[in-house]
Amino acid sequence: MFTIKGKTGDWEVVIGVETHIEVLSKSKIFSGASADYNPTVAPNTQACMVDVAMPGMLPVLNEYCVDQAIKFGLAINAEISHKSRFARKQYFYPDLPQGYQISQPAEEPPVVGRGWIEIVGDDGNPKKILIERAHMEQDAAKNKHDMHPSKSFVDLNRSGVMLLEIVTFLDTKNPENNSYITSPEEAEKYLRQIREIARAVGVSKANMEEGSMRADVNVSVRPAGAKYFNERCEIKNMVSFKFIKTAIEYEARRQIEILENGGKIERSTMRYNQGDGTTTVQRSKEDALDYRYFPDPDLLPLIITDEHIERIRKTMPELPAATRTRYIEKFGLAEYDAARLTETVDISHWFDAAVGDKPSRAKSIANWMISELFAHPENYDITNEKSGMVDEMRIITPSDLAELVDMVASRDINGKQAKEIFIKMLDGESGTPREIADKFGMKQITDTGAIEKIIDEVIAANPSQVEQYKSGKVGLLGFFVGNVMKKSGGSANPAVVNEILKNKLN
Ligand code: MN
Repeated sequence: MFTIKGKTGDWEVVIGVETHIEVLSKSKIFSGASADYNPTVAPNTQACMVDVAMPGMLPVLNEYCVDQAIKFGLAINAEISHKSRFARKQYFYPDLPQGYQISQPAEEPPVVGRGWIEIVGDDGNPKKILIERAHMEQDAAKNKHDMHPSKSFVDLNRSGVMLLEIVTFLDTKNPENNSYITSPEEAEKYLRQIREIARAVGVSKANMEEGSMRADVNVSVRPAGAKYFNERCEIKNMVSFKFIKTAIEYEARRQIEILENGGKIERSTMRYNQGDGTTTVQRSKEDALDYRYFPDPDLLPLIITDEHIERIRKTMPELPAATRTRYIEKFGLAEYDAARLTETVDISHWFDAAVGDKPSRAKSIANWMISELFAHPENYDITNEKSGMVDEMRIITPSDLAELVDMVASRDINGKQAKEIFIKMLDGESGTPREIADKFGMKQITDTGAIEKIIDEVIAANPSQVEQYKSGKVGLLGFFVGNVMKKSGGSANPAVVNEILKNKLN
C-alpha cells in the first residue's frame, strides 16, 4: 500500500480520474466536417456551419461515433445503455461558439455504464479499477494566443470532434470495495491501460503529447487504514504521465499538511504549475461553475438495440489481456515475457508477425525481442516514432528475425553466428539474414566427420589435459570445446562438438 509519511502518521491517497480521449472518425460527432484536425491543416478550413454555431443549424448524430463508444465500452467490460440522452452543458468561453457543449447528462446513465479496467497494482497483483461511466461529448475549438502580440485567435477545426470521457468509480457507500487508484504509479498504469485499449480497438490514438488524451485527476487523503473518504480536490487538464505523478504527490502532501494543522479541505479546482511541480487553487467551491445541464431539444434520445451491440461485439479485435493469455497458454511464454510483448499493440503485432504460423519459433522470437531488439529501439519498426539516425541504419523486420531464428533451429548457423548477423543488420548491412550469412561465409559445420577430425587434432595436441580430464577434472570439457570451436573458426555446432568430445574422452 502506497503511503505518505506525515507528522502525525502515515496517510493514504485516494485517486479518481476523468480521462478525455479524442475519438477517431472521418467526420465530427454532429456535423459532416472532417474530424482530422492535425496541426498541418490550415485553421478554420474544417469547420462547417454547425461547428461555428450559425443560428438555425441542427446537429445530426454520427452513427460511427456511437459505434466507437460502444467498442470502447465492450473493451472495458461495461454495460451499454439501451437508451441515453444528450444534454447541453452551458459555459462561456471563446473556444465554444455554441455557448454550450453537447455532452450526456451527469445524472443519467450515458452510453457506456459501469465497467472495469485491469492494471497491475502496487503489490504486483492484477487490480480492477472500476469505471463509473464513459460518455460522448463534443470537443471545443482551440484558442491561439501566440500568433500576435495583442490579439488572440480561434481555430475551429477541432470544434465538434468527438470526445469520450471515461470516469473512474469510487464506491463511497462501500469503503471496503478498494477497486480504485491508490498511488501515483497506479494512476499512470491506469492511463497507459486506457491508451492501450483505445489503440487496440481503434477508438483513439490516446496520445497525451499530441493532446488526444487529457486527464483531470481527483485527489483526497486519509489516515492509513481509515474507512472513510475525505473531501477531494481536482487537478485539471493534465497532459503528461510525469506531471500527473508529480501533481498527485504534491497535492496529497498539501492536503496532509492542512489536515495535520487542524484545517479542513475545501473542494477546489487546482492548477498544476509545470515550472515548480506545485498545485495552487484555481477555483474554490463558492465560485464553482453551474453548468445548468438540460436535455438538448435538437437531438433525439440515443437508442441502441441488443442486435447492434452484438454486431459490434463480433468485430472486436483481441484485447491486450487476451493476447497475454494466448502467449502464455499457446506459446508457453513466461508471464513476464508475455507482459513485455503486450505493452503496446504494435509490439504484439510485430511478435505475432514474426512467429507467423510456426508456434515453435515463439520462445526464441520472444527472447530475441526482449533481450536484443528492445535494447535497440531505433532498429525495429515497432513504433512509428523513428529516431533521426534511422536513415543510416537498417530496420529489422519480423521476417528478418523469423529467418534468423529458423536458421539456428535448422542448425544452418549457431547462436554465436546468429548474434553476429544480428549485429551486422544493426550496423546497416543489407540483405536477409541468409544472404548476410552467405556473404560472410557463416555456416555451421554439422557434418560429424569434419568435426571429429578437428576434435582428434585438439585431443592429440593436448595430452596432459586429456590425462587430467580422465582422472576426474571434468570441468576441462569447456577447454576442449573452446579449442575445437576456435579451430573451426566458430562454425562448428557446439551441441555436436560436446557430444562427440564426451564420447571420445570417456
Ligand atoms: Mn468532459
